[in-house]
Amino acid sequence: MTQDFSDVLVIGAGVVGCAVAREVSRDALRVCVLEQAGDVAEGSTKANSAIVHAGYDAAPGSAKARFNVRGNALFEAWCRELDVPFVRNTSLVAAFGDRDLAALEALRLRGERNGVPGLRVLTRDEVRALEPNINRAVVGALLAPSGGICCPYGLTFRLAEHAAANGATFFFERRVVDVARAADGLWHVTTADGGVFRARAVVNAAGLYADELNNRVSAQKLSITPRRGEYLMIDKQYAGTFRATIFQVPTPLGKGVLVSPTVDGTLIVGPTAEDIGDKSDTRTTADGLRKVIESAARVWEQVPAGGVIATFSGLRAHGDRDDFVVGEAPDAPFFFNAAAMESPGLTAAPAVAVWLAEQIGRALDAQRATHYVQHTATWKPFREMTDAQRIAAIADDPSYGRIVCRCENVTEAEIRAAIRCRIGARTLDGVKRRTRAGMGRCQGGFCTPRIIAILCEELGLTPEQITKFGGGSSLLVTTPGARPATLGLSPERCESCVERREVCHD
Ligand SMILES: Cc1cc2nc3c(=O)[nH]c(=O)nc-3n(C[C@H](O)[C@H](O)[C@H](O)COP(=O)(O)OP(=O)(O)OC[C@H]3O[C@@H](n4cnc5c(N)ncnc54)[C@H](O)[C@@H]3O)c2cc1C
Repeated sequence: MTQDFSDVLVIGAGVVGCAVAREVSRDALRVCVLEQAGDVAEGSTKANSAIVHAGYDAAPGSAKARFNVRGNALFEAWCRELDVPFVRNTSLVAAFGDRDLAALEALRLRGERNGVPGLRVLTRDEVRALEPNINRAVVGALLAPSGGICCPYGLTFRLAEHAAANGATFFFERRVVDVARAADGLWHVTTADGGVFRARAVVNAAGLYADELNNRVSAQKLSITPRRGEYLMIDKQYAGTFRATIFQVPTPLGKGVLVSPTVDGTLIVGPTAEDIGDKSDTRTTADGLRKVIESAARVWEQVPAGGVIATFSGLRAHGDRDDFVVGEAPDAPFFFNAAAMESPGLTAAPAVAVWLAEQIGRALDAQRATHYVQHTATWKPFREMTDAQRIAAIADDPSYGRIVCRCENVTEAEIRAAIRCRIGARTLDGVKRRTRAGMGRCQGGFCTPRIIAILCEELGLTPEQITKFGGGSSLLVTTPGARPATLGLSPERCESCVERREVCHD
């Protein structure tokens, strides 16, 4: 079943795949993206620290160092163009003894070699003046003014929207099982459902599985180990406790446990770093979370256990070369890797995408697209509106006046917009990541039934068909003999509400 022809076929709709799709769609090229999950940002991109790293960690001369520093420089403009949050909140590497102070100096020198601007080692008093709530045991810190924070899934969603507005086609729930060069000179990319997609060039942005795809076409084998990181998310009530992202001195396994504000006003604490065997094991563990709290205590003496609103984990795609693998495979022309993209892969994504798009454009002799869409509109979150804007929005669309998620002040209008856009939400998590509905203190305890009802109306599905994140992640089941689920709404009322395209609040 041959399905499609494209000039550029991207495998994986994480931040890297979507950034590449957006950049190659600036050229007059047919672009398609195949993603095994039901939505964008379902891999490492959905669960990380969301830090836009300054770039002092990576070894000078490495791909990580080069793309990190360049990516950091591009990040702010990209977020502005795409209407997604970004804050250059600066970062600190805190020292708690003489050995740490020596490590800071080494980091500073390394950062300077990598081209990181403005690095400076601060005294204890300078650190305490900037961060009064940091543990009094601090003896100094490396300040990186270019460090920032962002919303990884918000960025990815908007990158996909922009790519789609410029003609890129996204296929979800299409797992690539084979890539091979065929007699017609094209790559034939086979999906688990038997589809065959033909393409002139392939971009392997398959995250944890990028090694398997590379190894199908290249003798230069890669091996990716999932390295799990567990986190705690702390309620907005503690917003303002820290302004900067505060790291500790890095270890051989990574950058260690950090404490950071998020762009949404919460605080993130973590991650652990544990190599595991299963590329899908995103469990959190009692042991891991205990380690997070113990380690974070060096910075934040009393991480407030009562302020924890969520725990989660993400898997880093740790490659055996200990560096990103970016570029055309030497023995597989027109097969481009963006593999082993562990941290700082999020920061590096814009730079990797720009560089790969240039390589691909040159290889395919592409011309610039004549009708390039510069900007795609998005909805303004109700919680960010002034009172005057709120009144105007409600006058224009009364569903802006119906709050669905009370913790995050998300309205029905925003949820419908998130479903109706080009790369629209199809699942509860899809709505959550596009709008923040369900991400607040109650973690969806109150709004979940209403969001399911809206998804049903918009997509013409029954409540039993709505999933958390696609596949078998059903939220509701009907037991034999039971009345169909109505989410607490009487069927008669629901029908009239459905006709008026409204959510019934009774
Ligand atoms: C704990 C942790 C903390 C991190 N912190 C930071 C940080 O603070 N700053 C930073 O810069 N970076 C950070 N990172 C790294 C960052 O998250 C990643 O570099 C980035 O998200 C990688 O994006 P990606 O698109 O390459 O991979 P992914 O987001 O994993 O996307 C790959 C996609 O490919 C799909 N896919 C896989 N196989 C197939 C297939 N066969 N067919 C079709 N689709 C397929 C997957 O479903 C997935 O959606 C962190 C990572 C982790 C795990």
